[in-house]
Amino acid sequence: MKIHGAIEAGGTKFVCAVGDAATGSQRTATIPTRDPDSTFAEVAEFFTQASDLGEITGIGIASFGPVGVDPASPDYGRILATPKPGWAGTDLLGRVRAFLDVPLAIDTDVNAAALAEVEAAGADMRQLAYVTVGTGIGVGLVSEGRPVHGIGHPEAGHILVRRHPAHEGFAGTCPFHGDCLEGLAAGPAVSAAWGAPASELAADHPFWAVEAEYLSQLCMTLLLTMAPQRIVLGGGVMKQERLFPLIRNRTADLLGGYIQGARDAAALERLIVPPACREPSGLVGAFLLARQAAG
Ligand code: ADP
Ligand code: ZN
Repeated sequence: MKIHGAIEAGGTKFVCAVGDAATGSQRTATIPTRDPDSTFAEVAEFFTQASDLGEITGIGIASFGPVGVDPASPDYGRILATPKPGWAGTDLLGRVRAFLDVPLAIDTDVNAAALAEVEAAGADMRQLAYVTVGTGIGVGLVSEGRPVHGIGHPEAGHILVRRHPAHEGFAGTCPFHGDCLEGLAAGPAVSAAWGAPASELAADHPFWAVEAEYLSQLCMTLLLTMAPQRIVLGGGVMKQERLFPLIRNRTADLLGGYIQGARDAAALERLIVPPACREPSGLVGAFLLARQAAG
Protein backbone atom coordinates (compact mmCIF):
# COMPACT_ATOMS: atom_id res chain seq x y z
CA MET A 1 0.00 0.00 0.00
CA LYS A 2 1.54 3.31 -1.13
CA ILE A 3 0.53 6.49 0.70
CA HIS A 4 1.56 10.12 0.77
CA GLY A 5 2.54 12.43 3.61
CA ALA A 6 1.32 15.99 4.11
CA ILE A 7 2.60 18.67 6.46
CA GLU A 8 0.78 21.94 6.98
CA ALA A 9 3.49 23.92 8.73
CA GLY A 10 1.92 26.86 10.53
CA GLY A 11 3.17 29.45 12.95
CA THR A 12 1.07 28.05 15.79
CA LYS A 13 0.77 24.39 14.82
CA PHE A 14 2.06 21.76 12.43
CA VAL A 15 -0.63 19.42 11.10
CA CYS A 16 0.84 16.16 9.81
CA ALA A 17 -1.15 13.58 7.87
CA VAL A 18 -0.80 10.43 5.82
CA GLY A 19 -3.22 9.38 3.11
CA ASP A 20 -3.58 11.00 -0.29
CA ALA A 21 -5.30 13.88 -2.04
CA ALA A 22 -8.09 11.74 -3.48
CA THR A 23 -9.25 9.91 -0.34
CA GLY A 24 -8.04 12.33 2.34
CA SER A 25 -6.18 11.73 5.59
CA GLN A 26 -6.01 8.29 7.14
CA ARG A 27 -4.25 9.59 10.23
CA THR A 28 -3.38 13.09 11.41
CA ALA A 29 -1.48 14.68 14.26
CA THR A 30 -1.45 18.28 15.43
CA ILE A 31 1.87 19.38 16.85
CA PRO A 32 2.30 22.77 18.52
CA THR A 33 4.98 24.89 16.80
CA ARG A 34 7.82 25.31 19.27
CA ASP A 35 11.50 25.60 18.29
CA PRO A 36 12.48 23.75 15.08
CA ASP A 37 14.34 20.91 16.90
CA SER A 38 11.50 19.86 19.20
CA THR A 39 8.82 20.45 16.57
CA PHE A 40 10.56 18.28 13.97
CA ALA A 41 11.31 15.59 16.56
CA GLU A 42 7.54 15.11 16.89
CA VAL A 43 6.97 15.36 13.13
CA ALA A 44 9.57 12.61 12.59
CA GLU A 45 7.94 10.42 15.23
CA PHE A 46 4.53 10.78 13.55
CA PHE A 47 5.78 9.75 10.11
CA THR A 48 7.94 6.94 11.48
CA GLN A 49 4.93 5.44 13.27
CA ALA A 50 2.67 6.06 10.27
CA SER A 51 4.71 3.67 8.14
CA ASP A 52 2.48 0.92 9.61
CA LEU A 53 -0.26 2.24 7.27
CA GLY A 54 1.81 1.84 4.12
CA GLU A 55 4.89 2.93 2.26
CA ILE A 56 5.17 6.74 2.20
CA THR A 57 6.31 7.59 -1.34
CA GLY A 58 6.36 11.39 -1.13
CA ILE A 59 5.73 14.25 1.28
CA GLY A 60 4.28 17.66 0.48
CA ILE A 61 4.85 20.64 2.74
CA ALA A 62 2.49 23.63 2.84
CA SER A 63 4.41 26.16 4.89
CA PHE A 64 3.93 29.50 6.53
CA GLY A 65 5.96 32.15 4.77
CA PRO A 66 8.01 33.65 3.63
CA VAL A 67 9.64 30.46 2.36
CA GLY A 68 11.97 29.71 -0.56
CA VAL A 69 9.95 28.09 -3.36
CA ASP A 70 12.44 28.18 -6.25
CA PRO A 71 14.15 24.76 -6.59
CA ALA A 72 17.09 26.47 -8.32
CA SER A 73 17.81 28.77 -5.36
CA PRO A 74 19.91 27.93 -2.27
CA ASP A 75 16.92 29.23 -0.27
CA TYR A 76 14.68 26.44 -1.60
CA GLY A 77 12.70 24.91 1.24
CA ARG A 78 13.98 27.38 3.82
CA ILE A 79 12.00 29.78 5.96
CA LEU A 80 13.08 33.33 5.07
CA ALA A 81 12.58 36.63 6.99
CA THR A 82 10.08 35.56 9.62
CA PRO A 83 9.65 37.47 12.88
CA LYS A 84 8.97 34.05 14.48
CA PRO A 85 11.87 33.46 16.92
CA GLY A 86 14.21 30.63 15.95
CA TRP A 87 12.65 29.89 12.57
CA ALA A 88 14.37 32.27 10.12
CA GLY A 89 16.69 30.20 7.92
CA THR A 90 15.23 26.85 9.02
CA ASP A 91 15.70 24.25 6.26
CA LEU A 92 12.29 22.57 6.23
CA LEU A 93 13.13 20.19 3.39
CA GLY A 94 16.40 19.18 5.04
CA ARG A 95 14.61 18.55 8.33
CA VAL A 96 12.16 16.20 6.63
CA ARG A 97 14.81 14.49 4.49
CA ALA A 98 16.73 13.76 7.71
CA PHE A 99 14.08 11.25 8.80
CA LEU A 100 12.57 10.09 5.49
CA ASP A 101 14.41 10.06 2.19
CA VAL A 102 11.52 10.33 -0.29
CA PRO A 103 10.65 12.92 -2.98
CA LEU A 104 9.55 16.18 -1.35
CA ALA A 105 7.79 19.31 -2.57
CA ILE A 106 7.10 22.57 -0.80
CA ASP A 107 5.02 25.67 -1.38
CA THR A 108 3.36 28.29 0.78
CA ASP A 109 0.36 27.18 2.83
CA VAL A 110 -1.84 29.50 0.78
CA ASN A 111 -0.50 28.50 -2.65
CA ALA A 112 -1.07 24.88 -1.62
CA ALA A 113 -4.57 25.77 -0.41
CA ALA A 114 -5.26 27.49 -3.73
CA LEU A 115 -4.20 24.33 -5.59
CA ALA A 116 -6.57 22.28 -3.42
CA GLU A 117 -9.45 24.67 -4.06
CA VAL A 118 -8.80 24.51 -7.83
CA GLU A 119 -8.99 20.72 -7.63
CA ALA A 120 -12.19 20.91 -5.56
CA ALA A 121 -13.76 23.30 -8.07
CA GLY A 122 -13.40 20.88 -10.97
CA ALA A 123 -13.11 21.70 -14.65
CA ASP A 124 -12.30 25.12 -16.07
CA MET A 125 -10.95 26.68 -12.88
CA ARG A 126 -7.77 28.30 -14.25
CA GLN A 127 -7.34 31.38 -12.07
CA LEU A 128 -8.01 31.23 -8.33
CA ALA A 129 -6.97 33.19 -5.26
CA TYR A 130 -6.95 31.70 -1.75
CA VAL A 131 -6.86 34.18 1.12
CA THR A 132 -6.34 33.31 4.76
CA VAL A 133 -7.32 35.89 7.35
CA GLY A 134 -5.82 34.53 10.56
CA THR A 135 -2.71 35.34 12.58
CA GLY A 136 -1.54 37.01 9.37
CA ILE A 137 -3.09 37.55 5.97
CA GLY A 138 -1.75 35.27 3.25
CA VAL A 139 -2.73 35.11 -0.39
CA GLY A 140 -2.04 32.12 -2.62
CA LEU A 141 -2.53 32.39 -6.36
CA VAL A 142 -3.00 29.70 -8.97
CA SER A 143 -2.73 30.88 -12.56
CA GLU A 144 -3.38 28.56 -15.50
CA GLY A 145 -3.51 25.71 -13.02
CA ARG A 146 -0.08 26.41 -11.49
CA PRO A 147 0.88 28.16 -8.25
CA VAL A 148 2.34 31.60 -8.94
CA HIS A 149 6.08 31.90 -8.27
CA GLY A 150 8.50 34.51 -9.49
CA ILE A 151 10.51 36.77 -7.24
CA GLY A 152 9.58 34.45 -4.40
CA HIS A 153 5.86 33.88 -3.97
CA PRO A 154 2.93 36.30 -3.84
CA GLU A 155 2.63 38.37 -0.65
CA ALA A 156 -0.64 40.19 -1.29
CA GLY A 157 -1.53 40.14 2.40
CA HIS A 158 0.78 43.12 2.72
CA ILE A 159 -0.78 45.40 0.09
CA LEU A 160 -1.56 48.97 1.09
CA VAL A 161 -5.23 49.78 1.56
CA ARG A 162 -7.26 52.96 1.91
CA ARG A 163 -8.01 53.63 5.57
CA HIS A 164 -11.57 53.27 6.90
CA PRO A 165 -12.59 56.48 8.78
CA ALA A 166 -13.65 54.48 11.88
CA HIS A 167 -10.07 53.18 12.12
CA GLU A 168 -8.27 56.52 12.20
CA GLY A 169 -5.47 56.69 14.74
CA PHE A 170 -4.85 52.92 14.71
CA ALA A 171 -1.19 52.41 13.78
CA GLY A 172 -1.53 48.80 12.56
CA THR A 173 0.37 45.73 13.75
CA CYS A 174 2.54 44.58 10.83
CA PRO A 175 6.17 44.46 12.07
CA PHE A 176 7.36 45.36 8.56
CA HIS A 177 4.81 47.92 7.32
CA GLY A 178 2.57 48.99 10.20
CA ASP A 179 -0.73 49.65 8.47
CA CYS A 180 -0.62 47.34 5.47
CA LEU A 181 -3.66 45.07 4.98
CA GLU A 182 -2.31 42.45 7.40
CA GLY A 183 -1.47 45.15 9.93
CA LEU A 184 -5.04 46.44 9.79
CA ALA A 185 -7.18 43.36 9.26
CA ALA A 186 -5.51 40.13 10.49
CA GLY A 187 -6.70 38.57 13.77
CA PRO A 188 -4.09 40.28 16.02
CA ALA A 189 -4.93 43.67 14.42
CA VAL A 190 -8.62 43.14 15.21
CA SER A 191 -7.83 42.47 18.86
CA ALA A 192 -5.37 45.40 19.02
CA ALA A 193 -7.80 47.88 17.47
CA TRP A 194 -11.00 46.87 19.25
CA GLY A 195 -9.79 45.13 22.42
CA ALA A 196 -11.41 41.78 21.55
CA PRO A 197 -11.36 39.18 18.76
CA ALA A 198 -14.07 39.24 16.09
CA SER A 199 -15.93 36.38 17.77
CA GLU A 200 -16.65 38.65 20.75
CA LEU A 201 -17.76 41.80 18.91
CA ALA A 202 -21.48 42.66 18.72
CA ALA A 203 -23.30 42.68 15.39
CA ASP A 204 -23.58 46.49 15.42
CA HIS A 205 -19.89 47.06 16.24
CA PRO A 206 -17.99 49.22 13.70
CA PHE A 207 -15.50 46.34 13.28
CA TRP A 208 -17.70 44.52 10.74
CA ALA A 209 -17.82 47.37 8.24
CA VAL A 210 -14.13 48.16 8.76
CA GLU A 211 -13.03 44.55 8.23
CA ALA A 212 -15.31 44.14 5.21
CA GLU A 213 -13.92 47.36 3.72
CA TYR A 214 -10.30 46.16 3.83
CA LEU A 215 -11.05 42.66 2.59
CA SER A 216 -13.20 44.12 -0.20
CA GLN A 217 -10.29 46.31 -1.25
CA LEU A 218 -8.18 43.15 -1.43
CA CYS A 219 -10.86 41.38 -3.49
CA MET A 220 -11.05 44.35 -5.84
CA THR A 221 -7.27 44.40 -6.26
CA LEU A 222 -7.18 40.65 -6.91
CA LEU A 223 -10.00 40.88 -9.47
CA LEU A 224 -8.27 43.76 -11.24
CA THR A 225 -4.84 42.15 -11.30
CA MET A 226 -5.27 38.40 -11.88
CA ALA A 227 -8.89 38.08 -12.99
CA PRO A 228 -9.58 35.14 -10.67
CA GLN A 229 -12.65 33.01 -11.38
CA ARG A 230 -12.92 32.41 -7.64
CA ILE A 231 -11.62 34.09 -4.47
CA VAL A 232 -11.69 31.71 -1.51
CA LEU A 233 -11.64 33.40 1.91
CA GLY A 234 -10.49 31.15 4.78
CA GLY A 235 -8.70 31.42 8.13
CA GLY A 236 -9.92 32.01 11.67
CA VAL A 237 -11.43 35.46 11.15
CA MET A 238 -13.49 34.24 8.16
CA LYS A 239 -15.23 31.74 10.49
CA GLN A 240 -17.41 34.80 11.02
CA GLU A 241 -19.74 33.98 8.14
CA ARG A 242 -21.55 37.31 8.29
CA LEU A 243 -18.45 38.87 6.70
CA PHE A 244 -19.19 37.15 3.37
CA PRO A 245 -22.28 39.12 2.33
CA LEU A 246 -20.67 42.34 3.61
CA ILE A 247 -17.56 41.69 1.51
CA ARG A 248 -19.51 40.68 -1.62
CA ASN A 249 -21.65 43.82 -1.46
CA ARG A 250 -18.80 46.18 -0.73
CA THR A 251 -16.59 44.64 -3.46
CA ALA A 252 -19.39 45.24 -5.97
CA ASP A 253 -19.71 48.87 -4.74
CA LEU A 254 -15.97 49.49 -5.01
CA LEU A 255 -15.82 48.02 -8.53
CA GLY A 256 -18.66 50.28 -9.63
CA GLY A 257 -19.82 47.84 -12.30
CA TYR A 258 -16.44 47.92 -14.04
CA ILE A 259 -15.88 44.15 -14.20
CA GLN A 260 -18.59 42.44 -16.21
CA GLY A 261 -18.32 39.11 -14.35
CA ALA A 262 -18.53 40.72 -10.90
CA ARG A 263 -21.65 42.89 -11.15
CA ASP A 264 -24.71 41.10 -9.89
CA ALA A 265 -25.29 39.47 -6.52
CA ALA A 266 -25.45 35.95 -7.99
CA ALA A 267 -22.05 36.38 -9.69
CA LEU A 268 -20.46 37.66 -6.49
CA GLU A 269 -21.88 34.74 -4.55
CA ARG A 270 -20.05 32.37 -6.91
CA LEU A 271 -16.92 34.51 -6.95
CA ILE A 272 -16.24 35.17 -3.24
CA VAL A 273 -16.69 31.96 -1.26
CA PRO A 274 -15.56 29.99 1.81
CA PRO A 275 -13.28 26.96 1.29
CA ALA A 276 -14.85 23.98 -0.50
CA CYS A 277 -12.35 21.33 0.69
CA ARG A 278 -13.58 18.89 3.31
CA GLU A 279 -10.27 18.99 5.17
CA PRO A 280 -8.24 22.20 5.68
CA SER A 281 -7.31 23.40 2.17
CA GLY A 282 -3.62 23.77 3.03
CA LEU A 283 -3.39 20.14 4.14
CA VAL A 284 -5.17 18.91 1.00
CA GLY A 285 -2.76 21.10 -1.00
CA ALA A 286 0.17 19.44 0.78
CA PHE A 287 -1.18 16.06 -0.40
CA LEU A 288 -1.36 17.43 -3.95
CA LEU A 289 2.27 18.56 -3.67
CA ALA A 290 3.21 15.08 -2.40
CA ARG A 291 1.42 13.53 -5.39
CA GLN A 292 3.42 15.74 -7.77
CA ALA A 293 6.67 14.93 -5.96
CA ALA A 294 6.02 11.19 -5.96
CA GLY A 295 5.18 11.35 -9.68
P1 ADP B 1 -3.28 30.71 11.87
O1 ADP B 1 -3.43 31.93 11.02
O2 ADP B 1 -2.31 30.90 12.99
O3 ADP B 1 -3.04 29.47 11.08
P2 ADP B 1 -6.14 30.94 12.38
O4 ADP B 1 -6.49 30.96 10.92
O5 ADP B 1 -7.05 30.14 13.27
O6 ADP B 1 -4.67 30.42 12.62
O7 ADP B 1 -6.12 32.44 12.86
C1 ADP B 1 -5.99 32.80 14.18
C2 ADP B 1 -6.53 34.21 14.33
O8 ADP B 1 -7.89 34.23 13.91
C3 ADP B 1 -6.51 34.73 15.75
O9 ADP B 1 -6.06 36.08 15.71
C4 ADP B 1 -7.96 34.67 16.23
O10 ADP B 1 -8.30 35.77 17.02
C5 ADP B 1 -8.75 34.66 14.96
N1 ADP B 1 -9.85 33.71 15.05
C6 ADP B 1 -9.76 32.38 15.24
N2 ADP B 1 -10.98 31.80 15.26
C7 ADP B 1 -11.87 32.80 15.12
C8 ADP B 1 -13.30 32.86 15.06
N3 ADP B 1 -14.06 31.76 15.18
N4 ADP B 1 -13.86 34.06 14.86
C9 ADP B 1 -13.11 35.18 14.72
N5 ADP B 1 -11.77 35.20 14.79
C10 ADP B 1 -11.14 34.02 14.97
ZN1 ZN C 1 2.88 44.15 6.16
